[in-house]
Order: sequence, then C-alpha cells, then structure tokens
Amino acid sequence: MSSIVAIVGRPNVGKSTFFNRLIQRREAIVDSVSGVTRDRHYGKSDWNGRNFSVIDTGGYVVGSDDVFEAEIDKQVKLAIDEADAVIFMVDVESGVTSMDEAVADLLRRSNKPVLLAVNKVDNSKRLENAVEFYSLGLGEFYPIASTSGSGTGELLDALVEALPEKPDVEESELPRFAVVGRPNAGKSSFINALIGEERYIVTDIAGTTRDSIDTKYNRFGFEFNLVDTAGIRRKSKVKEDLEFYSVMRSVRAIEHCDVCLIVMDATRGFDGQVQNIFWLAQRNRKGVVILVNKWDLIEDKETNTMKEYEKNIRREMEPFVDVPIIFMSVLTKQRIFKAIETAVDVYKNRSKKIKTSELNDIMLPIIEAYPPPAYKGKYVKIKFCMQLPTPQPQFAFFCNLPQYVKEPYQRFLENKLRKEFDFTGVPVSVYFRKK
Ligand code: GDP
Ligand code: GDP
Repeated sequence: MSSIVAIVGRPNVGKSTFFNRLIQRREAIVDSVSGVTRDRHYGKSDWNGRNFSVIDTGGYVVGSDDVFEAEIDKQVKLAIDEADAVIFMVDVESGVTSMDEAVADLLRRSNKPVLLAVNKVDNSKRLENAVEFYSLGLGEFYPIASTSGSGTGELLDALVEALPEKPDVEESELPRFAVVGRPNAGKSSFINALIGEERYIVTDIAGTTRDSIDTKYNRFGFEFNLVDTAGIRRKSKVKEDLEFYSVMRSVRAIEHCDVCLIVMDATRGFDGQVQNIFWLAQRNRKGVVILVNKWDLIEDKETNTMKEYEKNIRREMEPFVDVPIIFMSVLTKQRIFKAIETAVDVYKNRSKKIKTSELNDIMLPIIEAYPPPAYKGKYVKIKFCMQLPTPQPQFAFFCNLPQYVKEPYQRFLENKLRKEFDFTGVPVSVYFRKK
C-alpha cells in the first residue's frame, strides 16, 4: 500500500516537469478531460525505498482570473482531502503572487504535511531571491530546479520522511473490495443494493488514514471489507468537478483494495476513463472484475449481444484479457450476487499460493516440451521455479541466462500458469533469475 502525494501550484511553475522527473520512464496516466481544459497525471514513484503515487493536479484552466482562482482553490482542497502529503510548487521567476498566498493559506490550515518547493532556482542569484517565499508562512522551503534536478533529492528526502507510516491493516483475512468507475455508472446504487440495510454492517475498522474507512459487510454468505472511499460519503460536496473527483477517488480506492470492482455503464461502453481505471488497477497489481451495469437498458438483446459486447471489451483490455466480465443490472438486481461471488473468486486467485513441488511438477515438463528459443546461438536452460512470497502472484524462473529470455516466452509462461492454476482477474508477474 503506498501513500499518495499531490503536487499543487499555479500553471507554469513547473509541476509537470517535476512530475515527469519523478516518474521518469515509468508510464503515467494522462487524463485529458473533454474540452481540453486540463490534464492530470498520475504515476508511481519511489525514493529511499518508499513507494508512493504522485498526482499532478495540473489544473490548467482557460478563463477569467475568477474562474481560475476558484479552480485552484478546489484542487488544493481536494489535494488536502485525498493526499497524504502535498508538494506546493511556486516559481522564483515570478516571485510570490496573490494566488500563491491564497493557496498557502489553505495549506497552512490543513493538517497534512506540506512541502514548499521553490522551482526554477537555476543559479545562486535565484537562490537569494527564493528567500522571499518565507513570507508564505510555511516554514522551510526547498529550492529546486526541475529541469536539471538540482535540489530535488533534498525535497524527496523530506517528502518520504513526512509520509505517514501506514500501518498494515491488511492483517484482516477478509477481501477488500473497491467499487470504482466513472460518475453515473451506478456505483452508489450498487453499493446500496449490497449494503442496503444497516444490519449487514458488522463493524467499522478505522482505516489507514482519517479519511478512509473500511467497513466490514456480511452479505450473501460472504464477508468482505468495502473500501469506502471518501466520495461515497462526501458526494454532495463536489457536484461540479465530478470527473476529477472520480479520478482521485479511484486512485485512493484502488491503492487500498485487493480487488477492484469496475462498474461501467453498458450504454457508454469501455471508454477512456474506464480504461484509465482498468490501467490503474493493473499497475497496482490488483484483482479486477468488470461489471457491465445497466444491462437492462440494452434493447433488442439477441443471443449474441452479450458475446459481442464482451468481445469488444476484451479487445480494449489487451493484453490482460483474463478478467471476468459480468453483465448486471442494479435496477433489476440481475447478477448482483454473481458480481460479489466473482469478486471473492478473484480475491482467492490473487492470494493463491502454489507449492513449489507442484509448480515444478507441472511447469518443468511444459518448459521441456517448449523451451525458450535460442538467442545468439545460446540455449537458455530453466532449472526450476517458485512462487514468490508476495501478496499477489509473482513467479521466478531460475535459469542460466535470464537476460536471453524475451517477452513472448514470458507471456507464454504466464498463459500456462493461468491455464494450469487459474489466476483469472489477477495480474501475474513472471521473472527470470540467474541460477
Ligand atoms: P506546470 O504548468 O506547472 O505543469 O509547468 P510546466 O512543467 O509545464 O513548466 C512550465 C515552464 O517552466 C516550462 O517552459 C518549463 O520548461 C519551465 N521550467 C520548469 N522547471 C524549470 C526550472 O527548473 N528552471 C527553469 N528555468 N525553467 C523551468
Ligand atoms: P454513481 O455516480 O456511479 O454512484 O452512479 P449512481 O448509483 O448514482 O447511478 C447513476 C444513475 O444510474 C441513477 O439514476 C441510477 O438510478 C441509475 N442506475 C444505476 N444502476 C442502474 C441499472 O442497473 N439500470 C438502470 N436503468 N439505471 C441504473
């Protein structure tokens, strides 16, 4: 479970430049909202052995200063609500602006760790100028140059120091399900249908942060924790920026769960935002169930309607296609039970541990019958394999020349593992190690 760090600040202070530096070659999610008013970025990073997720709240808004201020205001509040630490970036070139002061004001009143990064400090003259940012009342600041990376090490040292130690609440053996998806997909309706009556709620377990609470449910004969994201309770607060909110909310929920129940609207299809959420779940190595909701709205269904629909989704999901897809209707209660049952199955697949002897008995003959292709005239000999003791399935194959095993063979082994042991709905990692 990793912490979430939000980068806030005015446009053009260098947030994206800094973000890209943090994420480096790792893929980042870019969520361009229709109208191209702003981009938001999400990615994973690590420093001194601490993993964290970074959200660049981007916030490029075209419009009057008023609109603009309101927007920044909203984003900063969101960052304070949803992140574990906030990096507030300002620009030494422009000096302290009134908007910087407004943002500093909001941040000072929060109880989240705030790190003030004064960017574009490219030389010692600028370092002298940076002193004026003390006036923001946020205490110490970190002079950095995002373009060259200078000073960013100190900033990151302080950042990981400030991140809360997350107690591992995963000692609970119960599955942790997060219900995610774009606004209006039917998440709240689904949750209401699941938990409907108070009596299904067993206990409240204090979550990992003040803002998130896991609630234990007992329903349909299953016990599970629902990762209740802030959004479920605070929905009314954010009528306007629902899309942005849903991205933040998804990030948080996904980070804290074992299995993501991705609810999509059958009438909208597996669109960009659903893909982003799916991608997030995969990146975080979480289990996934796709719930195609509002199936009641699809008219003139024929024998093949569902098959065709499913085929189209799988095409979008490539190469990770071994994922259950359930067609449901919260309205008519069709397959709601099936959705939870499937999520429980995926949870079991994700926590499955294969004994080393069994694994080798099955995999070595397969490898012998179909060994890795020779590379530059050299033969790769895989000697044995084992599952690593990680929360999600990861396998190491020990061999003489691990560097010569290429991706197609890796995928071949992954598919065999899926076929033999059933890891439906779960990302499986295959590594090659020197022996
Ligand atoms: P954002 O709108 O806050 O995401 O800002 P960008 O990352 O897009 O950067 C805005 C501009 O500032 C770009 O032209 C960057 O090249 C420039 N910039 C970013 N970091 C630095 C820096 O450390 N020094 C200087 N001189 N320019 C920078
Ligand atoms: P959320 O924003 O994802 O939480 O979505 P809501 O649960 O608020 O649902 C959005 C709208 O879709 C509401 O008007 C629901 O009544 C409706 N809705 C939810 N599930 C279904 C369904 O299975 N079929 C139909 N026809 N409408 C649904």
